[in-house]
Amino acid sequence: METTMKNLIFAAMATVTLAGPCYAGTWVGGGGEFNMDSQNPWFVQNTTTIKACVLVDAEHFHLPPYANTDPNRYLQGVIHVAFKYWQDELAVGTRWFRQDKNAPTVGTQDLEFGPCADDTDLRFQFGTLSKAQQAAFRDQGQDPRKFVSLAVRTDYDRIHLKGKGFIYVTADSGPLRPTNVTMMPQPWAHGEARLIKVLAHELGHVFGLQHTKRLDRYDSDLMSSGFPAVMVKPADPDEDEVINGSGIPVFFSVNHRADGSICPDASDPNWAAVVSFLNLSTVPACLNITRTDDNIEISTTNQSGERQALLGSLHLDLGKMWPTDLSPAITIWLPPDQTVFTPQSSDPHQIVAILASYMQTAEYRDARSNMRRRMLVTIAPEGDNNNVYGLTDDGQMLDLTHISDGRNADGISGPVIKLAK
Ligand SMILES: [Zn+2]
Repeated sequence: METTMKNLIFAAMATVTLAGPCYAGTWVGGGGEFNMDSQNPWFVQNTTTIKACVLVDAEHFHLPPYANTDPNRYLQGVIHVAFKYWQDELAVGTRWFRQDKNAPTVGTQDLEFGPCADDTDLRFQFGTLSKAQQAAFRDQGQDPRKFVSLAVRTDYDRIHLKGKGFIYVTADSGPLRPTNVTMMPQPWAHGEARLIKVLAHELGHVFGLQHTKRLDRYDSDLMSSGFPAVMVKPADPDEDEVINGSGIPVFFSVNHRADGSICPDASDPNWAAVVSFLNLSTVPACLNITRTDDNIEISTTNQSGERQALLGSLHLDLGKMWPTDLSPAITIWLPPDQTVFTPQSSDPHQIVAILASYMQTAEYRDARSNMRRRMLVTIAPEGDNNNVYGLTDDGQMLDLTHISDGRNADGISGPVIKLAK
């Protein structure tokens, strides 16, 4: 697939609607003029330190018991985990631009906590909004109680490309408790996993990410608009791992480990081709696909998903994978009066971070014979999943989709190996 910079820029200009369970917005003054910079990252690399502060209403924002000796310190620690996540992920997403001093990049700052003051860049507000903020929501026709969390840019310095604002995470009780969200009791009191992920979502907005369409198929995707609401939903065993699992789903980087089982529908004609590719005599009951770093193993499993016989493996050379399916994830509109960068083109829109998949020709080695087959393998970062698909040497599409959780592209558990001419 050929992707030119021009296409990328064009795609980046598609409008993004900001609605749904997460509110991310800008308060603009001066009669509500359309601000081209309204989706800009709040900070680019000329800002080296983000001055932050924490406010918490402990009465209406219940923390785990062990956090109560020093709630502010606990919350700073939680924020740091989410912040560090984006430093690492954005290093991947912006690596195309980092060497160019005229290219804006994000995620390079340190976060420094102090008391909330006039020069604070980013306020983290847990269960608390000032009277003035509540009035500002009303003026904008918004009600903060409709959202689990919010990121609001309140000021933007167009000369220095620097924003100011706050992230709010909802109270669990009291007058600010959500009215339109199904929320478990005291969601923040069960440990930090939920709060870290909600903060990661909102910090994504601070760094300039909008709600993603590509990843929006599941509310369990980090930057989908429904993600914060999923984090506070009453317990659902299917989502328990997404919510309580240790890590934040990857965004720009690719998991190096993934593991999933699939049980095919034997009547699906595509399976004849899978059977042929894998050198089998019959359609297997279930298959397991496990990726560990540079190795993808395909095995048969029993109905409970336990691996039985190894069928074969694909070996990747991770150093030689090339990027494909590039799409802009963060863009910036450079105001004409900014003094930070010398624009490289007359188009004020610049791409800041790119989402990419990775591709490589790999050899499938049958474990039971000397058979070798070549296949073009594509690995795409999609949350906790590894999308592994590609083209076999005889021109067939082999799609080992969502191998970590066995869902296919439509979000349905079931057959996910597809072969089509
Ligand atoms: Zn959001």
